[in-house]
Amino acid sequence: MQADCIFCDIVLGKRSAEVIKQTGGLVVFKDIKPKAPIHLLIIPKKHVKSIIELVGEDRELVSDMVYMAKDMAEEQGLQGYRLSINVGREGGQVVDHLHLHLLGGWNTSQPDL
Ligand code: AMP
Ligand code: ZN
Repeated sequence: MQADCIFCDIVLGKRSAEVIKQTGGLVVFKDIKPKAPIHLLIIPKKHVKSIIELVGEDRELVSDMVYMAKDMAEEQGLQGYRLSINVGREGGQVVDHLHLHLLGGWNTSQPDL
C-alpha cells in the first residue's frame, strides 16, 4: 500500500467507491466519471504504479485483471466492449495505481469514439 494513493485508499476502505467485486488480489469498482454507460475499473490490491513498473512476479496479477474484465463484461451482459490501460502521463494516466478500464454498454454496433 502507498500513502496518498486514492486507489490504495479504496482497497483499504478508507475512501468510498461503488465496489462491484473483490477477490484476494483485485477490486472492481465503478469509475466516478464514467466515459461510457458501463465504466468499471479493475485494480490490483497491490500498489503497482503503472505497466512500466511491472516485474516478473506481476505476470499472474495482470492475467487475473484481464480475466476479471472478461467475467465482469459477461456479468454485465456486454456483447462487446473496450479494455484500456493508460500508461504514464504521456499515455493519459492520471491515477498512479495500475488500473484496467472496462468500457461498454453503447447501444450501437459502433462505439462513439
Ligand atoms: P486514468 O486516466 O487511466 O488514470 O484514469 C483514472 C480514472 O479514475 C478516471 O477515469 C477517473 O474518473 C477515475 N477515478 C478517479 N478517482 C476516482 C474515485 N475516487 N473513484 C472512482 N473512480 C475514480
Ligand atoms: Zn495505490
